[in-house]
Order: sequence, then C-alpha cells, then structure tokens
Amino acid sequence: MNILLLGSGGREHALAWKLAQSPLCDKLWAAPGNPGIAQEAECIGLDATDHAAVIEFCRAQSIDLVVIGPEAPLVDGLADSLRAAGLDTFGPSKQAAQLEGSKGFTKELCKRANIPTARYERCTSLEQAWGKLKRFDPPFVLKADGLAAGKGVVIAETREEAQEALNDMFGGQFGSAGSEVVIEQFLVGEEASFFALTDGSSIVPIGTAQDHKRVGEGDTGPNTGGMGAYSPAPVLSEALQARVMREIVEPTVRTMREEGMPYSGVLYAGLMLTKDGPQLIEYNARFGDPECQVLMMRLESDLVELMLACAQGRLDEIAPPKLADEFALTVVMAAEGYPGTPKKGGAIDLGDAEAAGAKVFHAGTALGDGKLVASGGRVLNVTAKGASATEAQRKAYTAVDAITFPEGFCRRDIGQREVRRERG
Ligand code: ATP
Repeated sequence: MNILLLGSGGREHALAWKLAQSPLCDKLWAAPGNPGIAQEAECIGLDATDHAAVIEFCRAQSIDLVVIGPEAPLVDGLADSLRAAGLDTFGPSKQAAQLEGSKGFTKELCKRANIPTARYERCTSLEQAWGKLKRFDPPFVLKADGLAAGKGVVIAETREEAQEALNDMFGGQFGSAGSEVVIEQFLVGEEASFFALTDGSSIVPIGTAQDHKRVGEGDTGPNTGGMGAYSPAPVLSEALQARVMREIVEPTVRTMREEGMPYSGVLYAGLMLTKDGPQLIEYNARFGDPECQVLMMRLESDLVELMLACAQGRLDEIAPPKLADEFALTVVMAAEGYPGTPKKGGAIDLGDAEAAGAKVFHAGTALGDGKLVASGGRVLNVTAKGASATEAQRKAYTAVDAITFPEGFCRRDIGQREVRRERG
C-alpha cells in the first residue's frame, strides 16, 4: 500500500515509525515531515490547506490511505475533500471535528447525550459573559470556543481576574477563536486521557495516558503543548475505563452518527476523575502530542490495518488494538525560550541515545549544513519503555543524558507522580 501522512511533529514521527513497520506499507510519504520522519518516509512539500494539490498528489502516487495527524486540517475539512475524491482517509470530517474545533458544540452534545461534564454557559458577547459569570463561583474556567493551540483556556482565581480575561478574549486575544466563550464550573480531581479508535459505529479503546502541560518541574510555570507523557495511566482502572466508554465515548459516537455527523478516526477524551466519576473536559479529534509517542511505543498491533479499517468502516472485522503490558514514557526536550519565543538553530547531537532501546522522535528539528538543529519550540521526544514507570523513566532520562543540546532544556520529573505511587 502507498500511504500519505500529513504533519511534521513528534506525533507524526511516532505515527510514521509505526506505519512504516507494517508489512502492509510499501511506500510511506510524509508532508511536510521533518528530519526524523525522513528516516521512515519520503518527505514532500505539500500544503495541506491546498486540498486540490493533496488530491492531485494522491492520484499521481496511487495513495491507498491518507493519515491526517494534526487538528487544523481536520477542522478545515481536508478529510471531506479527500473522501469526496474517493480516497480512504483516517481522520474525522469537518462537522465531526467540531468535537475539538468548538467547545460550545461539544458542551451542547454532552447535554443532548447526557454525558457527564462541567456545568457551563456559552457567551457570544462581553456583556453577556460578565452577566453569566455571576452564576459561577471561583475559580472561574473560561474557554475560547475555537482552536487556540492549547492556550485558549484561562483559570481565574478572582472575579476581577475573570472579567479581565473575558475583556481580553472578546478583545481579540485569540482572534476568531475567542468570538464565543464558554464559562465552566471548576472540576476537582486528577486528569487523565483516554483514546479510542472508531469508524463511526464500532469503537475500540487504544490506551490511556497522562501528560505534563506546565513548563516547569513540579507542574509550575506557563502551559505548553506538553512537556512529557506516560502510558498507561493506572489511575484509569479497567472499571473506570469501562465507565468512560459507557458514559462518555459510546454516547458521543452514537449521537454523532444519529445526528448525521458520523465521527471516524481517533477520539481523544481529556477527563477529570472527580469523586463523582469521570467527567469530560474536552475532546480532541486526533492523537495527542506527546501522548501519541507513548501509545505508539506500546502498540503491538498493525497501525495500518487499524487505520484502514477506521477509514473503510470495518473496524468490527479486525482484532482490537493490543498494547504491550509495559509503561512507556516520553520526555520533551525543548528549545530555550519555549513556550515564549524559542531559540532556533541550536545544535543537536543525538549521540547514542537510542543504544539501549529508547526512541528519539523528532518534533521541531531541521537540517542545517547537514547537521541537526532546533527549528521549533518542542524539539525532541525521548521515549522509552520499561516494566514499570520507574524503569521507563530511568531509561528515558539515560537517553536524554546521551544527547548534547546545549540550547535546549527538559523537565526532570516526567512521570514522577506514577513513580511515587510505585514507591508506595
Ligand atoms: P489542550 O488542547 O492543551 O488540551 P484546550 O485549550 O483544548 O487544551 P482544555 O483541555 O479544555 O483546553 O483545558 C485546558 C486545561 O484546563 C485542562 O487540561 C485542565 O487542566 C484545565 N481545565 C479545563 N476545564 C476545566 C474544568 N472545568 N475544571 C478544572 N480544570 C479545567
């Protein structure tokens, strides 16, 4: 089979690595890819916003499956254009991707399908938002409705702070993503992520994970796209996972189908495990980055077979995903300055980081004069497996220490919560 993968981050490197391992994969293309992905695929300069160009490429290269990595092309309707052209595509339609693209849409769906989630109000003007704020107690959770690269959520401790944040949101801080704002009740609990593959009817779980969003050790400092992750998330017990499927994921997929917007692809549920049970915080319409890296490290099934079955609506015909009964942990190495303005061009020497079985997924890397350099905020995802979180963490940091990247940094405490639990 000929496969085209769209995207250029650590998530896509992990997907490329796994897709290329499949005996079903004859030729893998990636657009635009990165130097790590280039070890697995032929990288090409296709613009994912130019749907006609993507279709033309797929026809010229007889592509059998297109895999869309990031959310922006999904929300932009690329999957619809590809399917309309007769191409098997892994990723939801534009309408279905609203589960990620519009927080208000998802909250309304939760209401219709009786899915546990925080109480909320949708606001379309500043006056309305100031008014509706009175119905909530601090801390206030304020969310720009649209895509804001993980930065559109403000948790305000006081009413004044909340009013100020609303002023900024309606003042254009997040562009059109902030023209509508959702105010939510603050949920208390531990966060965890649950992933499922679906073809619109059948649903199969594909693992759990926890990530570290803050830039600083001890979960301090500003939010980032994610500084590390591990899988599984033991806090999501088998019983809780069954509950998440029954109370959250299944009613979502069923309602989307019944309402004429079938969802196919990976559904990533961000959850708060409250004392009253799991509540949905958000959906993402794609794999998480860096959660994908740890899931792919554990996945023993053939990813091509799974993605093709999703794309062709026959997930019920194949065996469900099998994940290794081990931990995987990934440490993000970022460029100095991240999540502000990251320093570009920093030299990287990977040394023998992969010698002991770790895998270094590339995110923001580039080749400058044949040498590897940093080209983005999050640069490398150093990933390892182990029988326990403690062992996976030790292996991942051994690999990190083998890398020379003077203008980079990482958190030294990825997975610490789980390691502490293992110590008892
Ligand atoms: P990302 O894409 O980075 O996951 P996002 O911008 O799509 O984030 P959410 O996931 O909805 O936004 O929220 C970001 C973070 O804010 C959550 O991971 C969680 O820590 C916190 N949060 C969101 N909603 C609530 C809530 N109702 N109660 C408590 N914390 C919340």
